[in-house]
Amino acid sequence: DKFKAGLTKTRNLITAQLQGIKLQLGKFDEAKLEELEYSLIRSDMGAANVDEIMASLKAGMKAAGRDDAEFICQNLQEQFSKILGEKKELSLQENNLNIFLLIGVNGAGKTTSCGKLAHQYMEKGKQVMLCAADTFRAAAIEQLQVWSERAGAKLISQTIGSDPAAVVYDAISSAKARNYDLLIIDTAGRLHNKKNLMQELDKIKRVIAKEAAGARVYTLLVIDALNGQNALAQAVNFSETCPVDGLILTKLDGSGKGGVAIALAKINIAPIVFAGVGEGIDDLLTFDPQAFVKALLP
Ligand code: GDP
Repeated sequence: DKFKAGLTKTRNLITAQLQGIKLQLGKFDEAKLEELEYSLIRSDMGAANVDEIMASLKAGMKAAGRDDAEFICQNLQEQFSKILGEKKELSLQENNLNIFLLIGVNGAGKTTSCGKLAHQYMEKGKQVMLCAADTFRAAAIEQLQVWSERAGAKLISQTIGSDPAAVVYDAISSAKARNYDLLIIDTAGRLHNKKNLMQELDKIKRVIAKEAAGARVYTLLVIDALNGQNALAQAVNFSETCPVDGLILTKLDGSGKGGVAIALAKINIAPIVFAGVGEGIDDLLTFDPQAFVKALLP
């Protein structure tokens, strides 16, 4: 399935070690476990988390008197599942407006994810509108235009440099007047000017609270898995200034760093709700911890 395909690089990293262990069946080898530990660290689960995971694995192996790859795999699966928790889906309210506000640093995959989400909800029969509130980069508006055409969703945009909150105001008015089910807002992500960015987000949120009272709003932080451990710092940074309801973890396909999902779950800012596994319109999956764990291990 798509998770399996998307996580190939991360799985190969971990699996290489497990296969090594399998060859040693019955002849348990401490060095092999160390290699496994190293591969978990390289997949970006975080050194402290991996310490805990390995300690628990070793205790489990001792208690069960097992040292084979099958047992190790099963033990890791159980541990990862526990860390990731239950699947959390965003529920939309019927006959009322719902809003996804996508935030995150430049290049994380916000615009792309907006397009993929629009497509996904259009396929579910929802009326979806996109809003180009990243008015800082002309390319962002153009790119969202392309995605809106691909998805067949209506786009509300203004010229470059206009007030993002004003574009959001327009979009909400239009979405309400035409009874749209879902409004997806793309925002700017220039982190080097954190204060301005946060003020801009604040202003957008005030407009939403005032103009879309009664709407269900999800603030979704988009995080690039390629950023590995930096992704964690970004998540903490954003959530400190802007409460986040869910994470979209993108580019899981692009690296062997899929383990960052485990590290993100550990810091417990918000659940991962979607995962990007490619650049295509269908390459955004509802994050299913069970499917993810299965895709992570052989
Ligand atoms: P933004 O600046 O946050 O809006 O980021 P963009 O949506 O423009 O994405 C930046 C780049 O990442 C683009 O080239 C996208 O095609 C790419 N991208 C986004 N999501 C994914 C993903 O899940 N997998 C891969 N491989 N590329 C992605």
